[in-house]
Amino acid sequence: MTRPWRIALLSAAGLLAAALWWGVWQWQFQQSLDVARQHADNRLSLYSTTLEGALARFAYLPRLLAGQSRVRAAVDDNTAGDDVERANRYLERVAADAGAEAIFLLDRHGQTVASSNHATVDSFIGHHYGFRPYFQDAMDRGEGEFFAIGSTTKRAGYFVSAPVISAADGQPLGVVAIKVALESLQASWRRAGETVLLSDANGVVILSSRPGWRYRTLAPIAPAAMDEIRQQRQFLDRPLERLGQGLADGSLAIGGGSVSERYLDLSREQRRLGWTMHYLVPMRPLYLDARNAFLAAAGATLVLVLLGLWLRERQKRHRLRDREARIIREANERLESRVVERTRALQEAQEELVQAGKLASLGTMAAGIAHELNQPLSGIRTYAANGARLLARGRQDAAESNFTRIQSLCDRQDALIRQLRLFARRGGRREPIDLEDRLAFVLELLDERIRRQGVEVAFDRGEAPNPRVLGDTLRIEQLLTNLRRNALDALETVARPRLAIALATAEESVVLRIADNGPGIDAAILSRLFDPFFTTKAVGDGLGLGLFICFGIVQDLEGRISATNLEQGGACFEVTLPLAVDRRLAEGAPPDAD
Ligand code: ADP
Repeated sequence: MTRPWRIALLSAAGLLAAALWWGVWQWQFQQSLDVARQHADNRLSLYSTTLEGALARFAYLPRLLAGQSRVRAAVDDNTAGDDVERANRYLERVAADAGAEAIFLLDRHGQTVASSNHATVDSFIGHHYGFRPYFQDAMDRGEGEFFAIGSTTKRAGYFVSAPVISAADGQPLGVVAIKVALESLQASWRRAGETVLLSDANGVVILSSRPGWRYRTLAPIAPAAMDEIRQQRQFLDRPLERLGQGLADGSLAIGGGSVSERYLDLSREQRRLGWTMHYLVPMRPLYLDARNAFLAAAGATLVLVLLGLWLRERQKRHRLRDREARIIREANERLESRVVERTRALQEAQEELVQAGKLASLGTMAAGIAHELNQPLSGIRTYAANGARLLARGRQDAAESNFTRIQSLCDRQDALIRQLRLFARRGGRREPIDLEDRLAFVLELLDERIRRQGVEVAFDRGEAPNPRVLGDTLRIEQLLTNLRRNALDALETVARPRLAIALATAEESVVLRIADNGPGIDAAILSRLFDPFFTTKAVGDGLGLGLFICFGIVQDLEGRISATNLEQGGACFEVTLPLAVDRRLAEGAPPDAD
């Protein structure tokens, strides 16, 4: 792959990975958001119900109290002063029973005439609350409710009110108001470890699980609304600073707006007074979740990339190894083919040499044979001519002797031809041959020469007589004759010639030793002894084929032949031949039955 392509591919992979990580981040963030939303929704439901419940408890109480004659009497101009005392005690009792912070009675001008806290230092009696909406609304519309910081107690509370109607003319005589403290709700939110706010219609936080956030605004307050707040002294002289600001993603940033101070603002409108309850979910854990998912995805990608690189590297290494193996294999093959080529060339050269050697041998052989045949031939010619002349002269006897000589010369030639024929012949029938018998027969053949040379023959038959070897009679006789004749040749010039023949039978073979006390074999020619046409004899005396034929015969019979010089002088030829396993002997038949 070219460099620009690689860069493009890497960039695409990088972009894909970045898109994937962004997707993972988004997905996880959304998941966490959904979970948080679900949780917030549940909590908002719970807290809304609690708040509604807390307020609903007091919803009908003002009207109930306003209908009481004791209460009405306290604000009726026509009644006596004892009524106020009675109303005070009554309201005190009811407030204690109902759990209201205070229940008080205002006359038609907004002046407190009776109150449950009449006996405390913060008693409302004598105070004027005509500026409070709960008073005006009750007088005008028949009911009122309001949240404000108490101007007397400086404690915040929810005020709910109802008018006291004159029985005579149906006109409002005054207002019964109940103040309910809602701090216990805040405390329960705080205990739950959650960030919950309750804001009024102007966005002012009136209850908060964080005390410091109370009486601060979530949105800017319009000047008219601000004037009204001031007029009603709703929050006394609190500055009503901004708590934070809403961001585009629906989150609320508080203070400096750092992530740790950002909240997801999930709100629910309340039925009363345009209030809204806010459940603030800290954004930080959501971002942490998304970040962790992002890191996990990035880690997984990194692991995958590393795995990919490792696999690639491994593949590269494999390819390299394969290439090396292929190079080595090819080199080997080249080497082998060169070896084969060289071997073939060598063989060709050798064959050429052999061919040349053969031709040379053929020349030598031809010369030898020509010489061998020529001498007796010229002898025959001479004897025949002489014989004819002698016959012509009537010398019968002399002529007869010439014919005998011719016959003997023919015999010699016949022997030579036989030798050559044997040389040409390979293989032949193989049958068990008694080696001792053949030795005796050959000795007999050579008996005339042995006697002539005065050779002393010693024959050691060994421990196992009549050993049999597999072969054909003619060739075994040839082997024995050649070896004997060579020995007799070597003994020709020896003063006290001796020939020692020994047979030794081993487990599977028989060893024949033919030793003489002749001049022995020159060490320099020992290795060439069995080569064809190797002879140290004068032309006409030897063809150099005898030992070569012996070697061939022994090899055919799967044996071995070797020549050594004896320490006491003379040569020794040793022939080892495998013993024939006589089938009939093995089957238990007597050997004589042969
Ligand atoms: P040839 O007898 O026609 O020379 P051979 O192959 O029979 O051929 O013998 C080769 C040579 O081995 C002989 O010329 C001779 O030098 C040597 N040789 C063989 N037998 C003997 C022996 N018993 N003693 C010494 N030399 C021997």
